[in-house]
Amino acid sequence: MIVRRKTRQIQLGGMLIGGGAQISVQSMTNTDTADIEKTAEQIHRLEAAGCEIIRVAVPDLDAARAIRQIREEIGIPLIGDIHFDWRLAVAAMEQGAQGIRINPGNLGGPKNLKKVVDAARHQQVPIRVGVNSGSIEKDLLERYGYPTAEKPQALIESAVRNVRLIEEFGYHEIKISIKSADVLTTINGYRALSKKLDYPLHLGVTEAGGLIGGTVKSSVALGILLNEGIGDTFRISLTRDPVEEIRVAYELLRSLKIRERGPELISCPTCGRTGIDLFSLAQEVEDYIQTMKSPLKVAVMGCVVNGPGEAREADIGVAGGRGKGIIFKKGEIVKRVAEDELLKVFMDELKKMEAERLQDQEQKNNNQSA
Ligand code: SF4
Repeated sequence: MIVRRKTRQIQLGGMLIGGGAQISVQSMTNTDTADIEKTAEQIHRLEAAGCEIIRVAVPDLDAARAIRQIREEIGIPLIGDIHFDWRLAVAAMEQGAQGIRINPGNLGGPKNLKKVVDAARHQQVPIRVGVNSGSIEKDLLERYGYPTAEKPQALIESAVRNVRLIEEFGYHEIKISIKSADVLTTINGYRALSKKLDYPLHLGVTEAGGLIGGTVKSSVALGILLNEGIGDTFRISLTRDPVEEIRVAYELLRSLKIRERGPELISCPTCGRTGIDLFSLAQEVEDYIQTMKSPLKVAVMGCVVNGPGEAREADIGVAGGRGKGIIFKKGEIVKRVAEDELLKVFMDELKKMEAERLQDQEQKNNNQSA
């Protein structure tokens, strides 16, 4: 069982982070924030996929001004991501950003930082101190060198220094991230940081890459950290539609048995026994189950010889045969169907099972509240 590291708890737009709260899943929009319609539309898709906190870039005042209307249209807390210009941080909060992400060291000195911290206190907005390997203060780089797996100190010292700057103004609604594009630097950096400060940690591997490379890097780094109880919220960064980040995030949480959301797909890699076009069948099923809520285990297997047996754990499954397929539940065959009807019949069975599960859940909830 994972023993979570004890951290302080902060509130982000009514959502609890740290202090034992559920590990939350974040993403960031890649639209022009000032384009309210497109940004809100992307956030709606992310929300539907399970995104719980959204960050938007605030590169100028137009973006800051768009926040108010975006917030009116979405249902999850919004964080403004600001670099260099303290006025944008203040403007983002005035426009309703429920969190800000800054690098306190690049706001132009303590006077400017104080204005940001005062505004955060006034608006009750937590601050993420976001340190990146690529933007560490020069003096720290000279002292510790560029962060590496063996020597991640520059990242940690930069985070500590920036946190202390905020603490000096009497503010403690803080979470921290130290991002690197390197997996081992990320792991060693967060491990060391978690021993130094007890603020909640936002995990992530920056510039992780595309779907496969980025998923592997993020899953290795974040998987190891989460399994050690380190991390209170996280983002999987991918050079893709951000909705894919959410899918990967939940698969990661599911694989560590931290959280479940929606069904799990179990599918075989196929082999010489496969008698049907399993790849397209698996793709259709995978796309469909993204819309489902129950944590069902759904199997798509290539053959009837081993399929149901191999996927005994599955609540419901389909296995291919020569010209026909079978549908099974809990490892037992319940229907044999011609291949051309297989997908439709299986989907109907799947929908029926989901409806039963939801009904059972509702019944349980009613019994509990009675
Ligand atoms: S389920 Fe059948 S087709 Fe798929 S890998 Fe196993 S033996 Fe091969």
